[in-house]
Amino acid sequence: MTLVLLLGGTAEARELAAELHRRGIGVVSSLAGRVSSPRLPTGEVRMGGFGGVQGLARWLAELGVTAVVDATHPFAEKIGGNAVTAARLAGVPLLRLQRLGWQEGPEDDWHWAGSLAEAANMLPDLGKRVFLSTGRQGLSAFAHLRDLWFLARCVDPPGPPLPPRFELLLDRGPYLLEGESALLREHRIHVLVTKDSGGTHTSAKLTAARTLGLPVVVVRRPPRPAARTVETVEAAANWVLRGTP
Ligand code: NAP
Repeated sequence: MTLVLLLGGTAEARELAAELHRRGIGVVSSLAGRVSSPRLPTGEVRMGGFGGVQGLARWLAELGVTAVVDATHPFAEKIGGNAVTAARLAGVPLLRLQRLGWQEGPEDDWHWAGSLAEAANMLPDLGKRVFLSTGRQGLSAFAHLRDLWFLARCVDPPGPPLPPRFELLLDRGPYLLEGESALLREHRIHVLVTKDSGGTHTSAKLTAARTLGLPVVVVRRPPRPAARTVETVEAAANWVLRGTP
């Protein structure tokens, strides 16, 4: 019998859980447990880390998992690598479901950064009022920028260190163009910082920045170990339904 471990924390993971559930496939969705009130996928859900590669490999064997789909966020560096190694150790096929990155258009003014620290270094040349939409983790990379003002949008409140001139906006996507444009205008934002998350749930800010002629610092995705990868929920569902490779 098929039993899928679906590593989640993304909209795509929730969509895939719903689709597999609808088709009667056994799925356990796994969340890291970082967010205080996460959006829960349909069906069975487990929460919290596995205890590294060995813990995950053991978990796969003990539950008799027949396939792993890693649908974690493209910036979730550690779990992506752990899943590849653990699946190999447990002899279970793995598929990565990863949405495409965003593409810069001719009217965009994007500045690519290799890390949040590199993004922080670029900011003083780009503007004094910054919209940080990089999430709660990693805001410390901007804490030393005492002369800049930041609006940071997160799902849960971030911990210190934070920049001294800082306003927090607690919110959760998806976001629409009208709201994003108003946010940038009302806070007189000069520059945005974003991770290259991809997808449509949080992309309206990029359209808003383009329309307002604002520069955007885009943090590149971290490398993840090679794995069979698809970009859509439909392709991932088909892989599972086919009985995998
Ligand atoms: P990470 O650095 O790759 O993972 C750190 C540790 O958290 C992992 O080693 C693992 O612990 C545990 N973990 C992560 N994802 C898990 C999952 N789906 N189920 C069970 N354990 C998990 O991850 P992160 O960047 O902190 O992200 C945490 C979660 O938030 C991910 O699931 C991701 O999909 C979601 N998310 C992340 C971002 C982002 O920008 N990083 C954005 C949106 C959503 P053990 O080693 O103990 O197994």
